[in-house]
Amino acid sequence: MTTSTRSLAVLVPPAPLSALTALAVDKLAAIYPPSVRVRADDIFSLARLFAASLNTGTPAEQAQRWHHLLMAAGNFKRQGGSIRIGPLIQAPDVPPPRPFVPPGAGAGSVPLGPNSGHEYFLTVKGLRRLPTASVVLAALWPDDNLIADRRDLNAAIGLLLPTVSGIEDVADGLRAWFRHRRRVGIDTSDFDWLRRVARATLSQPGLGGVSLLSLERALFMLDKRTPQIAWPEYSIEIARQAELCPGCQVLRRTPHSLGCSQTVGGEASLW
Ligand SMILES: [Zn+2]
Repeated sequence: MTTSTRSLAVLVPPAPLSALTALAVDKLAAIYPPSVRVRADDIFSLARLFAASLNTGTPAEQAQRWHHLLMAAGNFKRQGGSIRIGPLIQAPDVPPPRPFVPPGAGAGSVPLGPNSGHEYFLTVKGLRRLPTASVVLAALWPDDNLIADRRDLNAAIGLLLPTVSGIEDVADGLRAWFRHRRRVGIDTSDFDWLRRVARATLSQPGLGGVSLLSLERALFMLDKRTPQIAWPEYSIEIARQAELCPGCQVLRRTPHSLGCSQTVGGEASLW
């Protein structure tokens, strides 16, 4: 007998991540791993080069730049060796049409747009995993999409768990959900769940100036800094990692600023 796996949206309804402040997001995004940052920046540049070619390039140039973009995305967070593309020229700031049919996708293909056609990436060899497919969407339409990987999902789920009722039952459901995902791979509904949470978060007062790119980097770092423990405990610990020192506003596990009153009285010098 099999029990159906509940979807992420049923287990943890999308809601704003109210534990995050703009300052905490900035500080966490600033410590995003440089090696990952360089790769992501390259992919964003390749997306703009591709977009420019749609306006001025030949079909062959368009197809080549699309191929470069997908190849770079395929390398993103790839384990064990990668394809080098070489230095990039300065990319012009040209947005892609909304929507467009990917070069080589064939007649009758569903156009790709900021809010549609994500299933396309699940058919592209090498892009069937969430980080690689989502990074193409984030690079093409950074105002509408964000990179989505296991760490980002962990962090968003952990920060939302205090808002759900019956946490032990939900934690059981989440364990089943992750087991299922490991077997069958991602579903675009998972990506849509994270996008809804991220957009709701940035619509909160005080977070209007935060980009989806920074928010993703902050979520990634929050999960990286939180031990991989059972969901209820993880949820408490990740919320602590999102707090800044009330005296000098530094991140957890960093030294207080000189003269911060929180360190007075023999307290450890790390926040
Ligand atoms: Zn302090």
